[in-house]
Amino acid sequence: MSAVAEQAARRRTFAIISHPDAGKTTLTEKLLLFGGAIQLAGTVKGRKASRHATSDWMALEQQRGISVTTSVMQFPYNGKIVNLLDTPGHEDFSEDTYRTLTAVDSALMVIDAAKGVEARTIKLMEVCRLRDTPIVTFVNKCDREGRPPLELLDEIEKVLGLHCAPITWPLGMGRAFKGVYHLLEDRFYLYSGDKHRVSEIETIAGLRAPGLTERFGEVYKVLLDEIELLQMAGTGFDLDAYRAARLTPVFFGSAINNFGVRELLDGFTEWAPPPQPRNALVPGGARAVQPTEAAFSGFVFKIQANMDPKHRDRVAFLRVCSGVYRKGMLLHSVRLNAPVRIANALTFMASERETIEEAYPGDIIGLHNHGTIAIGDSFSEGEALRFTGIPNFAPELFRRVVLKDPLKAKQLNKGLDQLSEEGATQVYRPLANNDIILGAVGVLQFDVVQYRLKDEYGVDAVFEPVPVHTARWVSCDDARKLKEFIDKNEQRLARDHYGDLVYLASSAVNLSMTQERHPDVRFLDTKEHG
Ligand code: GDP
Repeated sequence: MSAVAEQAARRRTFAIISHPDAGKTTLTEKLLLFGGAIQLAGTVKGRKASRHATSDWMALEQQRGISVTTSVMQFPYNGKIVNLLDTPGHEDFSEDTYRTLTAVDSALMVIDAAKGVEARTIKLMEVCRLRDTPIVTFVNKCDREGRPPLELLDEIEKVLGLHCAPITWPLGMGRAFKGVYHLLEDRFYLYSGDKHRVSEIETIAGLRAPGLTERFGEVYKVLLDEIELLQMAGTGFDLDAYRAARLTPVFFGSAINNFGVRELLDGFTEWAPPPQPRNALVPGGARAVQPTEAAFSGFVFKIQANMDPKHRDRVAFLRVCSGVYRKGMLLHSVRLNAPVRIANALTFMASERETIEEAYPGDIIGLHNHGTIAIGDSFSEGEALRFTGIPNFAPELFRRVVLKDPLKAKQLNKGLDQLSEEGATQVYRPLANNDIILGAVGVLQFDVVQYRLKDEYGVDAVFEPVPVHTARWVSCDDARKLKEFIDKNEQRLARDHYGDLVYLASSAVNLSMTQERHPDVRFLDTKEHG
């Protein structure tokens, strides 16, 4: 096996998807703790203090400054190299959250045992489904009164369309929570409620080991019944079905109490897929780029600016897809068709930003630049390959830009073009008037854009509400029908930064009526870059 193939095979690159407050931050911290990446739990918590930051830039900067170190966390575990990519979730929820999911090979879904499958999780699952990303599930907060586990599995199956294969099963819940039974190991892991104990946990081998009824009473009886039901329903784990994103292995636990996390991490690192081939357009066609290929390639899925007040540059996050990145290497920017020397790329070991020597498929590197890199850019050692599958996502929040000083229109346009290339916002220019409309999926994106317009382009702009509910990219193979559609709907049409046509719907009803009236027109909620 080549060195690249060997290194690629060890990588596990994933992100956590969850609804706010399900326990993503807590679980992240515990994964790092069990992975030996941090000595003491509490490191990741720093982010929480600034969670409620709104438009205060200092707070914003701080929040982002901290979050870049937690943007990518790499640690070795059981012979594997784990890359955990952070998905901004609270006020910092943004299109980056979606795009990060296009850069991973698998995802971990955290569900609150009391709340089940929540709205944000459903949205993020939709993004995972675009690439059939395999999902491992962690049902968190079993130490609190939750919903019956069978009901939770049923909800995952119905709402998310994923078969569930429980790997661990709770012995009681809430105050009666006594531990979990590991179905594959046929062993109980017992819960002491002592969150500081990371290593020694009492275990008992055998579902029907002597003394269990006496010790646990009713909750044990319930567990026996449930396990029997599961076995009758045939919910066994199947690696192929998991890798094909049809089935999710499910673990139960309590992240805050360090419980069930090690079992999760063990199962996850064993089953999660290594770096997968990625599709790319090449001159005259398309091909799948294999991670084992010797030549370096990768794509940019996120750009973060102004993170470090001392360096006013931007860091582009690049996912390595094939080959090796070596320090000081010349990379070929496919969009610019020019070489770019990357002097000091960043890696993200544990929670430190460090300059790296080498990076392999599945790894993320941070490239310093001054606006020469755009979201979706592909880099190679010369081959003109453009990775696909890093789309723009239809925004759900919209604002009209109002310029305070009309003489600054040119700077405004320049700033907005740059910011849209960096993925900070999407920009729409209506066909019927001279408005400029911004689109985002998270409200903080508008604060960032407003601040950066002033700070970097000297433009004072205010953003006003605008009666747009959602956006869809439109296209039609029949030129005559497209023209007819444009003529009838000019008031609701705009062009995005790349000149593509966008329908700005005033409501969900408006969108579906327009779709019905124009069956030959495609309305897409994602659009490939470029
Ligand atoms: P995030 O918003 O998904 O990142 O969630 P956090 O990790 O911040 O957790 C939200 C809240 O749930 C915090 O107050 C945590 O302390 C709490 N929490 C997290 N995990 C558990 C758990 O296993 N049990 C209980 N009882 N609370 C938890």
